[in-house]
Amino acid sequence: MKKIEHIGIAVRDLSKANGLYERLLGSPAYKEEEVPSEHVKTSFFRVGPNKIELLEATHNDSAIARFIDKRGEGIHHIAFDVADIHEEMQRLKDAGFKLLNTTPKIGADNKLVCFVHPKSASGVLIELCQEIPQ
Ligand code: ZN
Repeated sequence: MKKIEHIGIAVRDLSKANGLYERLLGSPAYKEEEVPSEHVKTSFFRVGPNKIELLEATHNDSAIARFIDKRGEGIHHIAFDVADIHEEMQRLKDAGFKLLNTTPKIGADNKLVCFVHPKSASGVLIELCQEIPQ
């Protein structure tokens, strides 16, 4: 794993949270993107070499909607930048971690992603992400 790529925060209202994080971080989101497969709208902020991802559910069935129902707004996942997602998935599988998908999915921000079950990681949802080469 190379670094923490971003921290994902579940929010009820993306445009409201965008304003709040713009004031907090001192610069606006550089990207807004809907990920239909995940039923979320996202926005991204840069903080030095790292990013903050805000996520709002676009559907009651989305994992973000269920998370907010149970726990309210807050930190939803931590994403790690990896050089080779297939290799990291195999490494974690071999080490006994429970992966939430068997093959990488296309995520937001031009990434291949895979999630690790929070039960495998002290209650934290972990995202692996690899930049998709252009
Ligand atoms: Zn993420």
